[in-house]
Amino acid sequence: MTVFNFVTVGKTLDVDLPFVEKVQSEQETDAVELGEGIKSFQSTSLQDRLYVHTSQAIQFLQYNYLVPPLAPQVDVVFTNVSLKEKIGKVINSLLGRGLEQYQHNACADPETSTIYFSSAYLALKEKLPAEIQILALELGTVQKVVERELFHEIGHLAIRKHLRRKEVDSSIHPFEQRIRENIEEGFADSFSLHMMAIKYPDQQSFPVLRRHIQEQVKNDPFQVINVYRAYDDIPLKDSNGAVLKDVNQIVAGCLEVALKNNKAMLLECLADNFYRPQIKGSLNLMLSDSIDDGAYVDHFHNHYRKEGIVVNIKDARAKHFGSNANTAKKKV
Ligand SMILES: [Zn+2]
Repeated sequence: MTVFNFVTVGKTLDVDLPFVEKVQSEQETDAVELGEGIKSFQSTSLQDRLYVHTSQAIQFLQYNYLVPPLAPQVDVVFTNVSLKEKIGKVINSLLGRGLEQYQHNACADPETSTIYFSSAYLALKEKLPAEIQILALELGTVQKVVERELFHEIGHLAIRKHLRRKEVDSSIHPFEQRIRENIEEGFADSFSLHMMAIKYPDQQSFPVLRRHIQEQVKNDPFQVINVYRAYDDIPLKDSNGAVLKDVNQIVAGCLEVALKNNKAMLLECLADNFYRPQIKGSLNLMLSDSIDDGAYVDHFHNHYRKEGIVVNIKDARAKHFGSNANTAKKKV
């Protein structure tokens, strides 16, 4: 059972309770085009508008029994919603304490089951960050963009719940870390786009986003965001060609898609003389040199499935006690 706790507005949503009523009529929020900024919902504050959009997205999952297994409580925190917060942010950055949640439009902290969501999505067109403009091209309305982003962050929490967790007290090699994060990003994007494809049956593919990611990794494939191939396997379908609606099957299917994408990325990188020794050195699998690359990657993936998410508890603790050690950490 899971309760979503909207910390910023002091409201909760118990997704195990029967669905009662919609927060605001879907038509009303669906119609808001990205980039319209304050012109619509004029009377409501940024945090109230973020609440309407995000809770509506979660209620869609609730109503359709699509909430994946998650921690008992998921906190949803809205950022960049008040002047006080903006001043605090400036002071923190002057002190060299740039907080992770202010570096992204949306992100998740799986260690505390917290999703951070910024009011950047509600800005006027000329103030929209470039990465949100790509989403606007593909999806158009604020509601759809918020859904895509929120489902992605829920995906991060879902894979952590689905896989085992292994705690270590030493650092993971940065290259191994990158490979592991690529699997997680592939999962989060697959989960998000599958949910979008269920909600919007007339949108079964996301060509603008796919092309954008492919373009970003064209000259440097060894990247966390090299996930564009996953887009070709979404939505997941059953043997009769029907879109999967069972959330546990969806979670299992998204992991397979993420591993397939990661395998293709690793094979591409292993064929590169620059990356090959770095990947082999970082994974340090002690396999015979004669093993082919496909079997090599499969071996790592079997290991990954058994071991699950590896958490460096020193890093995790340092982060929660406010140390600055982790500011270079990538968005999740
Ligand atoms: Zn992510």
